[in-house]
Amino acid sequence: MDWDIQSLSKVCVQCQHPLTEGNVFHCFLVLSSEGSLERKDFCGGCYPQMKASWEGRPDLYSYWEGRVQRVEEMPQPKPLPYERFEILLRKYMVSESDRDRKFTYILALLLERKKIFVHRESVIREAQDKSFLVYEHLETGETFILEDPRLSLNQVEELKSELKDLMEQEFQTVLVEKAS
Ligand SMILES: [Zn+2]
Repeated sequence: MDWDIQSLSKVCVQCQHPLTEGNVFHCFLVLSSEGSLERKDFCGGCYPQMKASWEGRPDLYSYWEGRVQRVEEMPQPKPLPYERFEILLRKYMVSESDRDRKFTYILALLLERKKIFVHRESVIREAQDKSFLVYEHLETGETFILEDPRLSLNQVEELKSELKDLMEQEFQTVLVEKAS
């Protein structure tokens, strides 16, 4: 399974009704036949029917609801500390490097602490001896699926201090707020 970002659908996957600003959406996280996790977003009208047909199925991993909040992309010349976490997370999560993927995990923890990310689910794939963490971005409604690197507390602390140095280089400035 690749690391993955899945955006909130523009329309309900069942009835194609647009999911517009302020609407409630219902997100079902399901395991596809290829073994990847896919999100399916439904409108409030389709939800009771979808709930009835999916309830109790082993391929339904998780469910949550949210309110549609489309975020305008605005260029920020000086990103705030938590925005830097997000910029780096999006950069590192597509990297092939093992180290970058570990940083992605640390950044997800930091974003969770900032209440930008909420942890929705942990998925254990016993066959692959891997576990995955599913985070939702509370502002954009995107789903981020990360492999859990299973780090020890010491490793987490080491990576945090490496990350702090890296962030100073990336943004050419000293962070006022400690990345801890
Ligand atoms: Zn619908």
